[in-house]
Amino acid sequence: MAGRFYFMNIQVIIPAAGSGKRFGGKKQFLSLWDKPVLLHSLECFEKSSQVTGVIVVTSEDEIDLVQTLIQRSGLKKVHAVIPGGKERQDSVRLGFYQAPLCDMVLVHDAARPFVSLEMIDRLVQGVQEVGAAVVGIPVKDTLKNVAGGLVKETVDRNPLWSIQTPQAIRYDIFKKAVELSQKENFLGTDESMLVEKAGFPVKIVMGSAYNFKITTPEDLAIAEALKGVLCTR
Ligand code: C5P
Repeated sequence: MAGRFYFMNIQVIIPAAGSGKRFGGKKQFLSLWDKPVLLHSLECFEKSSQVTGVIVVTSEDEIDLVQTLIQRSGLKKVHAVIPGGKERQDSVRLGFYQAPLCDMVLVHDAARPFVSLEMIDRLVQGVQEVGAAVVGIPVKDTLKNVAGGLVKETVDRNPLWSIQTPQAIRYDIFKKAVELSQKENFLGTDESMLVEKAGFPVKIVMGSAYNFKITTPEDLAIAEALKGVLCTR
């Protein structure tokens, strides 16, 4: 990467300990293009020259399964598979405690199989500029504030972005953000909320409409249909 003068240690945390309540099953282990959803993003991080190591956080009873998947796939960067917590934020925190002291941490949902090398590069650049960066896409639809089935108002969508993962944060900033959220019992829906709460800036870099989270059975059908549209790794 241009402007990279020294080896950076970049650790990736993959929260994969969800029970898939909305999906009705553990979507991270469903088969997509003949391999488990989780493996798609693991292969991307394996291929990225930016990434040093990967920590997978999964449920206690799936640790053996994940370890077997990783061994069979020949992935070399995954150095820990650990049990997660009650909420996604708990799983990410436990993953962070497992990370060695490093330059930067990336967090990526196991349920987003279409992360790309370009997104990782843009995030690393963003962290070098301001300390934290997330991928997102500008909102396309008209947004309305709704109460009791009636429209209260239409929201100006111009400044609004839909936020995805990976989210990348300098190690020292992440440490402060995690510690503050623990101290104040603050539960965010993504990592950047913790960074914002700790008073640090977060840069938005371009994600992709393809980088959606598999949340419902329809999402899995859409992901399957993308075979031949997106290149496999
Ligand atoms: O439930 P949701 O789709 O928001 O989960 C996003 C990611 O966080 C998924 O990859 C899921 O497996 C993970 N997760 C976790 N620990 C939890 C809840 C969710 O690692 N307690």
